[in-house]
Amino acid sequence: MKRKEFLKKASIAAVGSSLLVQSCKSEDADSSTGPAIITNKKYKWKLVTTWPPNFPVLGEGCNMLAEWVKTMSGGRMEINVYGGGELVPALESFEAVSSGAVEMGHGAAYYWAGKSPALQFFTTIPFGLNAQQIDSWMYCGGGLELWEENYARFGLVPFPAGNTGVQMAGWFNKEINSIDDFKGLKMRIPGLGGKVLKKAGGTAVLSAGSEIYTNLERGVIDATEWIGPYHDYKMGFHNIAKYYYAPGWHEPGPILDLFVNKRAFDGLAPDLQEIIRTAAYRLNAWATSEFEAKNNFYLSKLINEEGVDVRRFSDDVLAGLKQYSQEVIEEVIAGDEASAKVYESLMKFSKEIRNWSEYSEKLYYNSI
Ligand code: CA
Repeated sequence: MKRKEFLKKASIAAVGSSLLVQSCKSEDADSSTGPAIITNKKYKWKLVTTWPPNFPVLGEGCNMLAEWVKTMSGGRMEINVYGGGELVPALESFEAVSSGAVEMGHGAAYYWAGKSPALQFFTTIPFGLNAQQIDSWMYCGGGLELWEENYARFGLVPFPAGNTGVQMAGWFNKEINSIDDFKGLKMRIPGLGGKVLKKAGGTAVLSAGSEIYTNLERGVIDATEWIGPYHDYKMGFHNIAKYYYAPGWHEPGPILDLFVNKRAFDGLAPDLQEIIRTAAYRLNAWATSEFEAKNNFYLSKLINEEGVDVRRFSDDVLAGLKQYSQEVIEEVIAGDEASAKVYESLMKFSKEIRNWSEYSEKLYYNSI
């Protein structure tokens, strides 16, 4: 019976979609009476990024996005990409796009937690979703609508635009065998992860990307996290740190964002809006895939050519970090209504998708 009902529903859906095609066709036929799209208006937009100029994957991806938009729009839209500091300081990108000084930016929503704590939930949270799962929440689980709602308060429109995948826990100069080993540890680790380290008795040190190497070399910090094997190799951390720990419990699948000034976006013809939306989708897919491909290549290089001691945190260490993470997140949502709303949606989706993962991803990984 159930199969029959399903088939019946499926055929209704098929009829429905062919009706949709028909109605679209008839609308097309009438389009001469609809609003005219001005096809000769040219746009020159600026995209400011939080990354160094041409930074692998992230800056590189923004350059590619500009090319795609130019080609898809037949040259009607040109985007000039600027590295952090070239036009505005990296961490002022949000403000620059929000105010309309420039039209677009690329970064990560958790950089803007100071503007509204809820924004950090749109990037990643400790022990949160992986790249595939957070995309699913964004595109098909209500995440993007919530993100749009939260960014609209700042005159911005967000688009998911890349994901680093599960990061590494970082580089350490002492072994971490128990949660107590974090006591007194000075580590460069930003955001919620830094707050978790503090609960574990450590000190979270904020250093700009350019200062991390020297700080670790001189012992100003005992440990640092960065991204994953590809970018970490380029930073040369293997020359000055003893152990490389996994997994990146604090950033399991951080999503990067393309943020566009809402007034500028709303002023575009619908086809150009769709071009930007489509280019952002492509950037999201490309950057995520590129991270995965390069991290795999550079991990082998670190192990086989550089002799790096790669280790994994014990289950006890991870359980301790998880407990502290829960406490940190509860403190954030207790003090902020917007955060509580976003977190509720994220947690509902996480719970459901994890039930499914028990039977899909986890069983599959354990079988290979
Ligand atoms: Ca990181």
